[in-house]
Amino acid sequence: MELNLTDLSTSSNHAEERQVKVLILGSGPAGLSAALYTARADLDPVVLTGMELGGQVSLTHLVENYPGFPDGVGGPEMVELFQKQAERFGATLVFDSAVEVDLSKRPFRVKGYNSNYLAGSLIITTGATPRHLDVPGETELTGRGVSYCATCDGWFFKDKDVVVVGGGDSALEEGLFLTRYASSITVIHRRDELRAGQILQDRAFANSKVHFIWDSFVTEIIGSEAVDSVRLKNLKTGEETVHNTDGVFIFVGHTPNTQLFADQLEMDERGYLIIDKYMRASVTGVYAAGEVADPHFRQVITSAGMGAAAAIDAGRFLDSISSE
Ligand code: NAP
Repeated sequence: MELNLTDLSTSSNHAEERQVKVLILGSGPAGLSAALYTARADLDPVVLTGMELGGQVSLTHLVENYPGFPDGVGGPEMVELFQKQAERFGATLVFDSAVEVDLSKRPFRVKGYNSNYLAGSLIITTGATPRHLDVPGETELTGRGVSYCATCDGWFFKDKDVVVVGGGDSALEEGLFLTRYASSITVIHRRDELRAGQILQDRAFANSKVHFIWDSFVTEIIGSEAVDSVRLKNLKTGEETVHNTDGVFIFVGHTPNTQLFADQLEMDERGYLIIDKYMRASVTGVYAAGEVADPHFRQVITSAGMGAAAAIDAGRFLDSISSE
């Protein structure tokens, strides 16, 4: 193997390239699980955390479906526990984001904002970003009534009326969280049947603060200094109405964070990385785990499992090339 791994502990300035056996991009459940497993395999993993340590789960109020936490666990607390466990075995977390990668040959070159890396193996766990509605007013009023995170912004809507757009688990979970603050939550869904799981549906239907507008989508978000209302179109009747509201919380799915790998790794038509059952991406030595490669399950537990699997296979890969 062409890597010189003797100076692993030397930190570098911006121009130098720090050599690492395993570089993990992203610090959500997939990234931190990969860090735990590669650290326990003595591979001294380095994790570039990205802008949000813990990824999307750090913005989640409560995780109730991760085994081992019968009463649920707060998202930020869970991230702290994942981090602590990975660091205990020697993982290094660096607050940085990759801005450029070169996967054309090994070791892979990764440029961060602060440091550059040469990685024997790369595990990509960059997750996904909330999708926008792309309607007039959305960008202009983001932060002034339009939000993609109830945990972050719910407090600003104390005793106010808000709408939640979407019919999936996120829409209902975040909508139910907003009932702590807002006086009413109106879920606007484009069909007459929710995509969300039954438990969340039952809770939402039983909550007197939660109302529904069916078969409708938001065509415009209206307001100058702050959100005043949303324009809605009923998809069955074509009727247009204006619904007054103080806030618009948008939960209509996610877009994978894979722009960095365009033309270097195979992706599906929606931009999710294509991997095999060993989490191997289309370049040997590159792995992907969690939402960046999983449009289907997207659970903390499945992402953590994928991260562990990627780590185990990355270890086997590094073993195989060091014995070449
Ligand atoms: P999702 O399941 O993809 O749901 C997106 C929702 O937004 C759908 O109801 C969809 O409508 C609607 N939608 C999509 N594009 C739209 C548009 N342009 N305008 C209006 N509505 C639009 O996304 P998610 O709720 O973020 O969940 C993502 C994944 O995370 C899922 O696998 C989910 O199970 C998981 N998750 C789980 C939990 C939990 O277990 N507690 C919590 C949060 C998320 P249609 O239904 O008509 O397609």
